[in-house]
Amino acid sequence: METETKKRTGMYENVMRQFNRAADVLGLDEGIRKILGSTNSEIVVHFPVKLDNGKIEVFNGYRVQHNNALGPYKGGLRFHPTVDIDAARALAIWMTWKTALAGLPYGGGKGGVTIDPSKYSAAELERITRRFTYALGDNIGPDVDIPAPDVNTNPQIMAWIADTFASTKSPATRMLNLHVVTGKPLGSGGLEGRDRATGFGVVVTIKEWAKLNNIDLAGKTYIVQGFGNVGYWASHFMEELGAKLIAVQDASGAIYNKDGINPEELDAYAKQYKGAVAGFPSASRMEAEDFFGVDCDIIIPAALGNQITMDNAHVIKASLIAEGANGPTDTVAEDFLLEKGVKIIPDILCNSGGVIGSYYEWLQNKRSENWKIADVLHLLEDKISIAFNKVVETSDSFNTDWRTGAYMVALSRIEQTYKERGVFP
Ligand code: NAD
Repeated sequence: METETKKRTGMYENVMRQFNRAADVLGLDEGIRKILGSTNSEIVVHFPVKLDNGKIEVFNGYRVQHNNALGPYKGGLRFHPTVDIDAARALAIWMTWKTALAGLPYGGGKGGVTIDPSKYSAAELERITRRFTYALGDNIGPDVDIPAPDVNTNPQIMAWIADTFASTKSPATRMLNLHVVTGKPLGSGGLEGRDRATGFGVVVTIKEWAKLNNIDLAGKTYIVQGFGNVGYWASHFMEELGAKLIAVQDASGAIYNKDGINPEELDAYAKQYKGAVAGFPSASRMEAEDFFGVDCDIIIPAALGNQITMDNAHVIKASLIAEGANGPTDTVAEDFLLEKGVKIIPDILCNSGGVIGSYYEWLQNKRSENWKIADVLHLLEDKISIAFNKVVETSDSFNTDWRTGAYMVALSRIEQTYKERGVFP
């Protein structure tokens, strides 16, 4: 039993361990530690939807709002069978640290629906999305809590949420309510470049790591777990730097080619098969359990949480893990990897391009503007580089790892707000 518990920890347990570790090093105020150690509100909804066959199914939806000391709650909605209150809680807490670290005027929230979307038609998914939005009611809103895409949710789903939310408000406020979500399609107030913001940001952090270590990324090999929004765009920008993608794993299986996999060709192939990479003709199939052991320089986990555990950490040969996904490395495996000298760019820094892009979309909507993609990418690179260097500086001065350093930057910002404003009443 003892070794079993040492081997695997849940996402919520991971985020709390990471928080407590950083709070200890920082000497976080005891009261603020209590506030941040719990969530502000947890909304659980059960809502009925009529399926195409006329039958009614009841779905479970969640929205956890962790903390809003710095601004409205912000974070994605996920449609996946693993969505439950614990996952939503952990992911909401991560969002609070992520927005604070990036210096955004937001708090942290997260949610989703427990569902395998591949089992439903587009019309059913639309009804599920709209009814879920209706069930959340005024718990979300452009200045209250602003959801965004996450696993299996996309701009189309955001457009349905925006339309449903705005349609249930007075017609006079319709336009003001459409920016209840970010990650919308371009015709509905979306931001040019929001689609690639997370993957782009992942690569900005990898470039910063390379700069810090005088490493030329051209010719460096990398592997990507998850070839959805984050995995594809990260590969796209790594390819531009001349790095070589040699293995990809997703929900459909794992593929390998030591001579390189072209991300654009793989994307074109996957689009024909509901996003699945299995069967890609220019690579061979590999066992999923051998994936993390592939001999490469960089691993980009860009799928789900808790993928790197003591079940596979010992086979890892890469010198860098850039966490595109949220919570891909559990704390036990992380300790082991750090001991081995593997660097980890923590999720709250590595994938923060998504929420930073969302912030620009929100600003663009509030100002009724249309921003240019080149400007968006430039702003993103700037903001992420500043956060990266702040994390390195903090970790160095406290002689700690980058994740703890990133948490310390985030926690200090929230602590300062509480100290200045106090706690009502
Ligand atoms: P997505 O739905 O576009 O893609 C998810 C990918 O993960 C797919 O390729 C899927 O096949 C793969 N996957 C699912 N289950 C898997 C399994 N068991 N093993 C291996 N692969 C599996 O999702 P996304 O938006 O790219 O998000 C990926 C990760 O990045 C998530 O952890 C998400 O929270 C995080 N993230 C996303 C954004 C964003 O802007 N989209 C921002 C920050 C963080």
